[in-house]
Amino acid sequence: MSRPRKVHVKSFGCQMNVYDSHRMADTLAPGGFHETAAPEDADLVILNTCHIREKAAEKVYSEIGRIRVMKEEAERQGRKILIAVAGCVAQAEGQEIMRRAGSVDLVVGSQNYHRLPELVARAASGEKIVDTEFPIEDKFEKLAAPRRDAIRARGISAFVTVQEGCDRFCTFCVVPYTRGAEVSRPLKQIVAEVERLAAAGVREITLIGQNVNAYHGLGEDGASSSLAKLLRRLARVSGICRLRYTTSHPRDMDDDLIAAHGELNALMPYVHLPVQSGSDRMLAAMNRRHTREDYLEVIARLRQARPDLAFTSDFIVGFPGETESDFRDTLSLIEHVGFASAYTFAYSPRPGTPAAEMENQIQDEEKSERLQRLQAAVTRQWRAFNASFAGRELDVLLEKSGKLPGQLVGRSSYLQSVQVMAPHSHIGSVARVIVTDIGSNSLFGALADNEAAPQLTAAGA
Ligand code: SAM
Ligand code: SF4
Repeated sequence: MSRPRKVHVKSFGCQMNVYDSHRMADTLAPGGFHETAAPEDADLVILNTCHIREKAAEKVYSEIGRIRVMKEEAERQGRKILIAVAGCVAQAEGQEIMRRAGSVDLVVGSQNYHRLPELVARAASGEKIVDTEFPIEDKFEKLAAPRRDAIRARGISAFVTVQEGCDRFCTFCVVPYTRGAEVSRPLKQIVAEVERLAAAGVREITLIGQNVNAYHGLGEDGASSSLAKLLRRLARVSGICRLRYTTSHPRDMDDDLIAAHGELNALMPYVHLPVQSGSDRMLAAMNRRHTREDYLEVIARLRQARPDLAFTSDFIVGFPGETESDFRDTLSLIEHVGFASAYTFAYSPRPGTPAAEMENQIQDEEKSERLQRLQAAVTRQWRAFNASFAGRELDVLLEKSGKLPGQLVGRSSYLQSVQVMAPHSHIGSVARVIVTDIGSNSLFGALADNEAAPQLTAAGA
């Protein structure tokens, strides 16, 4: 075992990057790397980047600039800081990063994290490395499993990547190019990871993937398994009381997955289902391969299976050729569905994608104006959704101490942050909480009178 060194991993973008960042740290741990939250103390700084919108990539370059200053300061003191760029910007820009930012030592694409120990050792001896191949070997098989202490430090709610990449090729999206073709992990590998997390005290699992409901990993019976089958299997893992999944495509929402929402208590009544636009013309131009009606039908079927389901979505405004009338179709879809919340984006042309080459690009001012109107509509719905819980009882998974003495913070089934006065020993349990007040970012509540001592079933809790 070599001398202890420190690694700082900074994640940009989606939850898949947060998961990857954890796995990178886990993979470097056996080589003597400890995680640090302070980049200036680190021997290795990894920026795990996102390329989904233009601003995301620019943020990375300004972050590299900041780390370069620390690197130069450390060098003056006779200490070396290695800078690595990982994630989708690394995958998309490769050599270009080395050209624009000479302080970077290593560029590693999203499929190659299992090679990090070897790549970092080579970079430490002065080699400049760009490794953005899509290798054939199974990255997940080779990535180190998280250690028990690291799992505990990351809390009682964990993400698990079950599939990567995407074959849908929406015309605005870089994911099929940066993450490659859709690949699903074998069910057995996922179950083993979830059992390990549960044994260390994790109670809630969010299955993640760029198109998670396209999951079709090798099942225990040798045939391919659907996401519904995977969820049913994970609901049987002792200690896991909540399951979620994100992000889904409306076309991959099959009958079995819809039925699972009606059957599985552990499956939370909260679905993130991006629609992008309410206009059929835009949906066709985006190559979404579903219509507005198809989307509304999926929502109706899900609500039939589980009436208390809440929905969130992603919307893009200002896609090439979008007219005021198309945009109004989006607003009317929002009114029709009633979302608990939503992510809203102004269209950002991504090099190499078909939409970036379309001629009828929308002016920035028009995009901003529509974005504001969209955000106002979504905010109204989000406020109304939260307000509807005043005085009601909710199940809250208590996660950690709050800011005030004696206060705990947890999440409702609908992912709302809930603050409640409760004994520290309740952390890791699901409590019945009466909502007493609605804040701007959280709900406030009190333990229901009949709230018994916490029932902890997780093996390690
Ligand atoms: N796979 C998911 C789906 O099918 O919708 C989401 C993938 S993407 C990581 C997350 C969101 O970013 C998308 O749903 C979309 O709303 C937004 N997005 C992707 N590319 C974009 C672009 N070029 N401009 C603006 N927003 C974009
Ligand atoms: Fe991108 Fe999602 Fe479309 Fe795949 S389904 S191309 S990840 S937006």
